[in-house]
Amino acid sequence: MRTLLFSSLAVFVGLVSTSNARDDTGADGRFDRRESFHFTLYQDVDIDEYGGFNGSRRFEQEILKQLEDAFDRLDRILGLRPDRKLDVHIWDPAIFDQNFAGLFRFPAAGFYGGSIHVRGATTVTPSLVRVLHHELVHAAFDAAAPRFVLPSWLNEGIAEWFEARATGKRSLSGSERSVLAGAARRGELFTLQQLSVPTLAGFSTNAAALAYLESYGFISHLVDAHGEKKLVQFWSALLRSKSLERASRRAYGRDFADLEANFFKSLGAR
Ligand SMILES: [Zn+2]
Repeated sequence: MRTLLFSSLAVFVGLVSTSNARDDTGADGRFDRRESFHFTLYQDVDIDEYGGFNGSRRFEQEILKQLEDAFDRLDRILGLRPDRKLDVHIWDPAIFDQNFAGLFRFPAAGFYGGSIHVRGATTVTPSLVRVLHHELVHAAFDAAAPRFVLPSWLNEGIAEWFEARATGKRSLSGSERSVLAGAARRGELFTLQQLSVPTLAGFSTNAAALAYLESYGFISHLVDAHGEKKLVQFWSALLRSKSLERASRRAYGRDFADLEANFFKSLGAR
């Protein structure tokens, strides 16, 4: 899941009831359905079908192109390659809010719950593309290990890291770093244990903002310190062994507690 706090944030909600998503009652009374190689797109935004350059058909083709690009990047950067076709719902923003606002305590830009759900726009904006990248990570982990509940710091951290990485951003920005360093100085950071819940959907707006940023910060720290390949080794070992300790030893050659301690130290935590 991704929240709307900064440019956006998106949420993993696990298996929520999204029965509304299956009704054919979109903004214009129905979902347009369109397929690409790896995705089935259901699109509900109220866009004139015959709007030429800005028409719905062109919008859907552009979304599918962005999704296929994201799919390739996911494989190349994270070694994740879902082996089944993924459903993606692009909702009219008002209907998205009406149906799903109750799932989260903060405004969400999208979420994954068995399929990808995105709060839509009438054009393919950079923030919409980021949400697609983000939710794709949740969908890919779910496809890779359907019954394994990942800790949120990993699921959200990698989703945040990947959407940033897809646009060329390889590490925390100066302002993100200073927000985390400030929280570290005041002793306000969450422990990774506290961020190990299956979803952050129950966090208040301010807590969610910090939780997402801290999760992203930890993944970014691991990549800064050990490289991207080790991150792939880490998540693969975790999905295989279902043990953080084993995955940590395998990929990084140290205890998980050391990884966490080094992260906090890098932020100047006492
Ligand atoms: Zn998310």
